[in-house]
Formats: sequence, structure tokens, C-alpha cells
Amino acid sequence: MLTTIIYRSHICDNVSVKSLEEMVAGANQINSRANVTGILLFNGTHFFQLLEGPEENVMEIYRHICRDQRHYNVVELLYDYAPARRFGKAGMELFDLRQSEKEEVLQVVLDKGTSKYQLTYNDRALQFFRTFVEATEKENYFEIPAGDAWEFVPDDEVVQLGAPLKSTSTEYSFAFQPIIDPLTREIASVEALLRTPDGGGPQAYFAGMQGDEVYLADLHSKKVAFAMAGGLNLHEQALSVNLLPMTLVKIPEAVDVLLAGIATSGLVPEQIIVEFTEGEVISGFDAFTGAVRQLKAAGISVAIDHFGAGFAGLQLLTQFQPDRIKINRELIKDVHTSGPRQAVIQAIIKCCHSLEIAVSAVGVEKAEEWMWLESAGISQFQGHLFARPAFDQIPQVAWPEKKADL
Ligand code: C2E
Ligand code: MN
Repeated sequence: MLTTIIYRSHICDNVSVKSLEEMVAGANQINSRANVTGILLFNGTHFFQLLEGPEENVMEIYRHICRDQRHYNVVELLYDYAPARRFGKAGMELFDLRQSEKEEVLQVVLDKGTSKYQLTYNDRALQFFRTFVEATEKENYFEIPAGDAWEFVPDDEVVQLGAPLKSTSTEYSFAFQPIIDPLTREIASVEALLRTPDGGGPQAYFAGMQGDEVYLADLHSKKVAFAMAGGLNLHEQALSVNLLPMTLVKIPEAVDVLLAGIATSGLVPEQIIVEFTEGEVISGFDAFTGAVRQLKAAGISVAIDHFGAGFAGLQLLTQFQPDRIKINRELIKDVHTSGPRQAVIQAIIKCCHSLEIAVSAVGVEKAEEWMWLESAGISQFQGHLFARPAFDQIPQVAWPEKKADL
């Protein structure tokens, strides 16, 4: 099927414009052989390329392009199918936008095309040409350095927290994972993640249970989480725990149980964030809002966890505004290379900003993901890049340090 990929990238400093002619000549041959056509626009800093052809061949060439050392910050903007090629004349044609008058340049580009209708029918691919040529999206091009520009250094000296107390329960224990602000080098909060006494994960834990047993375990495990967290010496840091919305519905005295556990452990309700998973919120929305009212009345904050994974997305925020949302790994994975992910995350950030909802990113594994998200305005992160959850302990945080320019 005729497949189109459009990407944008940034030319490396050491690449001369002259050498681009050679590069294009080489690309032309490879592309022609693979029956791939397209156009490459260059504005002096950025490339913008459209590739069209059989799906496998386009993908193969794109993978090759992504590895090319002559450019960086490659962001895929469009991946789509079409009935006919828009730029079917050449394997690859280079077009330097600076050589045309500003007013005419879009038309000059479109005139190189072979599509029947140009911009008549609102073709997304050609609309991308318009935004690139007119540079209307430029503020969203975050120029992030290569991933290896930072080192992640475990820091013994900045120990901001104490060690959790040992679990006295024979049923549950917890792993702890910090949520950090990497640039101010502060731990913003700590999340308690349910574990079996020998360290098994929450899925394994709940899997063997039936009916209301799940909710009882969910609730009563929190007493253990609070007791263990009593050893952390939390000051301005928050403690996050996860709860199923139905736990608060099925057990009428649940909030009182939580409050008692919080008080016994020397914590205050204002320090506690209860995280609800987006998918579970949507499937029992009325029950959820009832539960939330009780928590808020007690001074406890509410977060929507796994935001973006439950298919409600922004619509959920029209019905209910939590104190914070946690953007899920499914959305942030490789965000630095994906135009659609970038657009969705920017919309989430903008929306939460208008509503004064705090935003954090969970599951950050790559330096580039972190840098892109930081450029987009997120400052709180949780992920293996900085600290993995540690069973029965608080892990060391690996803080980013910029490597000196060589
Ligand atoms: P969550 O609340 O989003 O917790 C973060 C999960 O992501 C944890 O998995 C953590 O180990 C994992 N994680 C953290 N950083 C990274 C990363 O960089 N990459 C990847 N791939 N994963 C990362 P865990 O501990 O297995 O927990 C899974 C889920 O189980 C939690 O997701 C939470 O929704 C649920 N859960 C945990 N504890 C409880 C609990 O006490 N009650 C309830 N109802 N659910 C819980
Ligand atoms: Mn969570």
C-alpha cells in the first residue's frame, strides 16, 4: 500500500550545505531502486522530508535515515496511506527554501508535486508542508541535546530521606520509588508500590484473590505503607499510594481507616496523595466521584494515574479535576521521536496548566524522553532513568549532570 512518512530534523553543525547535494544524489539512487519518491526541504537549520512508496521500503529507508549522523532530533510527524504520490517525480529532490521569495515559497514547493488537488481537499501531508514552510509550529521544535550529553550520577551526599521502617505485616510489603525534580535535585514525593512479603508485584498479589478480598487487601495494605513511610522522615515531600476506586466504595469506613493509619505513622493527610488509575475511574465514574469527595474533605490529594492509557484522556478532565495527573509510559515512550505523542502531551500540559493541575511523567527510561518532557514544561519525573522502585527501601537517585563539552 502506498505509504507516506513525513519527518522533521535538525542539521548537525559540522555538515556543510554543499555536502547535502551529494547526500541527495546518493539517496536518489537508493530510493529510486526501492520505488520510493519524495522531497526534502531545508530551511538552513531544519530538514523536512516526505517519503512515499511501498510500506516496507519506506520504513526501511526511514530507519536508515534515523541513524544518519548528519542530522539529529528526528521527529516523525506523519505516517499515513494515500491513493497517489504527492511528490512522484524524483527519488529525492532537495529544495532549499531560502532560495525563494517568502510569499511564493509554498506555491513553489507545491508546484514540484504531482498530486492532483494540491491543498484543495485538506490533505494532512500537504498541510504539514504549509506549517513547515510558514514556520508556524516552530516554537514546538524542542532542540534537545544527544542522550549522552548527560550523566546520571547516584549521589550519596544528597540523602534527603530516611529509610522506611521494616514491614511488620506477614501479608504485604512495599517498594518505594521517588518522584523527583531533576533540575532542582529535589525529591518531590515518594510512591509506595504494593509488594508481597517476598517482593512480588501487585498483579501477582491481587491475582489470587476473589470478590471483596481485593478491596480489603488494597485498603489494609495502606496501613503498612503509612507505617513503613513513617521512617522516611518526610517533610515537604508527599507520599503517594495507589487505590482502586471501588475500595473506597465497597468499604464504607475506608477513609477513616486511612486517616487512622496516617495519624499513627506521624504523617498528615495533606501529605498524602491517593492515585487512581484512569481506566478504573472511567468504568465506575459515579462511585469514584463519591469516594473522592470523602478524601478531599479529609485533606488528602487525588491524582489520576496512568493518564492517557484509559482511553478517556482529556474528556475526563471536563468531568473531574484531580490535584495532579501522572502521564503514563505508553504515552511518553520515545516522545522525542514522535510528533503525535508530542502533540498529545503538549495538549495535556496546556490543559492541566489552565486548570492548575500538576503534571508528572511516569516510566521515564531515556535521557531524551526526560529532556523533551522538561522542555515541554514538566518538572516532576518518576522512572528507571533516575531511580527504580526498591523493595523495602528507598533507592538512591541518579541525578543528571551535564557532561563538560569536550
Ligand atoms: P503505577 O502506580 O503507575 O506505578 C508505577 C509502576 O511503573 C510500578 O510498577 C513501577 O515499578 C513501574 N515503573 C517505574 N518506573 C518505570 C520505568 O522507568 N519503566 C517501566 N517500564 N516501569 C516503571 P509496579 O510496582 O509493578 O506497579 C504496577 C501498578 O500496580 C502500579 O502502577 C499501580 O497502578 C498498581 N499498584 C501498585 N501498588 C498498588 C496498591 O497498593 N493498590 C492498588 N490498587 N494498586 C497498586
Ligand atoms: Mn501510581
